Amino acid sequence: GRDPARVSILSSDNGREFSDKLVSFDLSPSTTLKLHKGDITLWSIDGSTDAIVNAAEELMLGGGGVDGAIHRAAGPQLVEACREVPEVRPGVRCPTGEARITPAFLLPVSHVIHTVGPIYGKHDQPEVLLANAYRNSLKIAKENKIQYIAFPAISCGVYRYPHNEASRVAISTIKECSDGLKEVHFVLFSDTTYSVWLESAYELLK
Ligand code: ADP
Repeated sequence: GRDPARVSILSSDNGREFSDKLVSFDLSPSTTLKLHKGDITLWSIDGSTDAIVNAAEELMLGGGGVDGAIHRAAGPQLVEACREVPEVRPGVRCPTGEARITPAFLLPVSHVIHTVGPIYGKHDQPEVLLANAYRNSLKIAKENKIQYIAFPAISCGVYRYPHNEASRVAISTIKECSDGLKEVHFVLFSDTTYSVWLESAYELLK
């Protein structure tokens, strides 16, 4: 069952109004997982050791969904910074499952971590690639002294990954790989994504 001592439900994040329905889980004595419903482009903790993760495309020059929202909010310098990331092969700056980091420009965080989740149905083992996207984002965060990181539901939009499976991969990978970070957040855009994530968190972290 749930241990109520480890789960707190607050109406807002310390007075910040960017999101609602905040729920916290202790991953370890020094790392907390927090789930919110909200818009990730408005999220920040301290503006100097925080990063949001972008569900990017391999070319890294913007797209729809959360990618478009992040580029609009960051301003045109973000696409210029992305263009400077070298292509590893034509049309690919960040292969599926890997991560790259840039400054965040007009966003309230210090960095954007760009990762590419799998297009569901295109790969044999999508769960491996989705786990890699979370793991490599956490790795590049730690290498850049990030202490607070926020993820969207990678691959759960136009890449059509089933939400229940995606949430389980996301939360179990974060449980394994978040040592050294203070807080890992999910900022989920819809009520349905939020409730699927919450259900999986209660199940996997109890
Ligand atoms: P992908 O191509 O990886 O599927 P999408 O951007 O299409 O990426 O969708 C990923 C998730 O991000 C979806 O659940 C979508 O609802 C969500 N999303 C879209 N805009 C935002 C936003 N501003 N903040 C947080 N999540 C968002």
